[in-house]
Amino acid sequence: MRHQHYTPFSLSTYLCSEECTSSLIDRMLLCRECRRVLRTLSQWLVSLDHFEPLVAPEFATRHEFFNRLFFEHETHAERLDAVSTDEIYQHWGLASLLLEKASHMKLADSDSSRELAELALKTATLLDPAFYHPSWIADLCAKAAASLAETSLAMGDLDDARENLLHASDWQLAGTHRSRIRRRIATLRARILRAQGWTDEALDRLLRDLVEDEDKDGRDEGNLLLWFFGQWEVNDWQDLLQHDGNEAA
Ligand SMILES: [Zn+2]
Repeated sequence: MRHQHYTPFSLSTYLCSEECTSSLIDRMLLCRECRRVLRTLSQWLVSLDHFEPLVAPEFATRHEFFNRLFFEHETHAERLDAVSTDEIYQHWGLASLLLEKASHMKLADSDSSRELAELALKTATLLDPAFYHPSWIADLCAKAAASLAETSLAMGDLDDARENLLHASDWQLAGTHRSRIRRRIATLRARILRAQGWTDEALDRLLRDLVEDEDKDGRDEGNLLLWFFGQWEVNDWQDLLQHDGNEAA
């Protein structure tokens, strides 16, 4: 099929434009190269933990924002001030990268991990709800607060861990209620109770949380485009992408 293939950037804009219809998506899916681009877009969204294609390019630009934040501002206080006051840093990709790095540093360097999680939380709370979906922002805040609580717990600061756990729970309730985030907070709650010496309570609470979790609907998070494509009657795209992926493997 002869046409100008999409790039992840042009496809992200196209999918969110008014001219996009399910029949045009069906036609686009006939092209193997464009399906490959769609798969890339889907992987970017999974890494960013967001569902809207329009946000996907932030996966490709997020290191620029991170480098700028760390090269232009020397201390943690300056960086915290920069993400609080400079709109350029109100970027989903940056918040998600800060969180990823906080998680990687957790075991090796808890002070740095804590600072990265603080920056991530500040960035996430200032994201524009008119551009990024509010309940997905709440999820990101929940994950950042959970990350802070986990670091505090590792450092033995139980008061701080408890406080951040409460924030994480509040954000989670305002979010999408995806089970991965609920489970992370339930586990954290149990670990904090256990660290306080309340082992039986920790176990009871964890079991109760897990039973509640089973009652709730869990969507497939392996492909966040599902959330987006839910609005279209496009049935075959998942099978097509799966088929391409199997062939490539
Ligand atoms: Zn194409």
